[in-house]
Amino acid sequence: MRKYKFVIDPGHGGKDRANKGHSGRYVEADGNLQFALYLRDYLNPYFHVVLTRDKDKTLSLTERGRMAKGADMFLSVHSDAYTSNSSGVTIFDSVDLKNEDIAKNIGKAVADAMGIPFRGSREKESSRHPGEDYYTVIDVAQDGGCPCVLLLERGFHSNPAEEKKLLNANIVQASAEATANAIKKYYKIQEVMSMGRIFKDIEDDRWSAPYIEAAKELDIINGNDDGTFNPAGSLTREQAAVLTVRLYEKITGRKVVK
Ligand SMILES: [Zn+2]
Repeated sequence: MRKYKFVIDPGHGGKDRANKGHSGRYVEADGNLQFALYLRDYLNPYFHVVLTRDKDKTLSLTERGRMAKGADMFLSVHSDAYTSNSSGVTIFDSVDLKNEDIAKNIGKAVADAMGIPFRGSREKESSRHPGEDYYTVIDVAQDGGCPCVLLLERGFHSNPAEEKKLLNANIVQASAEATANAIKKYYKIQEVMSMGRIFKDIEDDRWSAPYIEAAKELDIINGNDDGTFNPAGSLTREQAAVLTVRLYEKITGRKVVK
């Protein structure tokens, strides 16, 4: 079902919490994380989602970029700073990959959801290393083989009106949802829950439905590729082994099987 892997990188955090909004109330590290957590929730039913950090934590740009290895898409999440009049959403793609189409779709979707201008998609080349990306995180992510690498600037926190929007949880959530929708469209992902159900053959009033849905959301049990779950099917010994290990990994946070 979930064949694409998606890495979200909430920029900054840990020792790097200096970027603040015009009023000082908005902290970029926290705003990026809030957006990333909403985005993870919206993408989780459709993608295998990994966050470079899911809490306030120090990570180097290289460490972040390396986590893109094996992923289909890597999105670094930021907000911008320049003057108090600077306004709008910008999105960067790699000079080597040219993911302009999806970059534009995401950038436009975020700008519309926030009610601010879209400044366009850009590629920034390093002046010291021509042919390489200016942004370390983009450069490292694409060097590792990830085919789609983006860096999103969700408006300017140096602009008082945009700082307010970045502090508004409803707007942050709406812009994360708009991002998820643009990504699903790009990968031609069908709305599996459009009927209010996760699996075609699980009715909402089935006694076990809440457990099956929870197990799916916890990423412990997946259904079949055709969108069914086969609720009365029996468990084989090998499936029991997989379940046991997945549970162990979930609870301990330790990865045992690669
Ligand atoms: Zn930033």
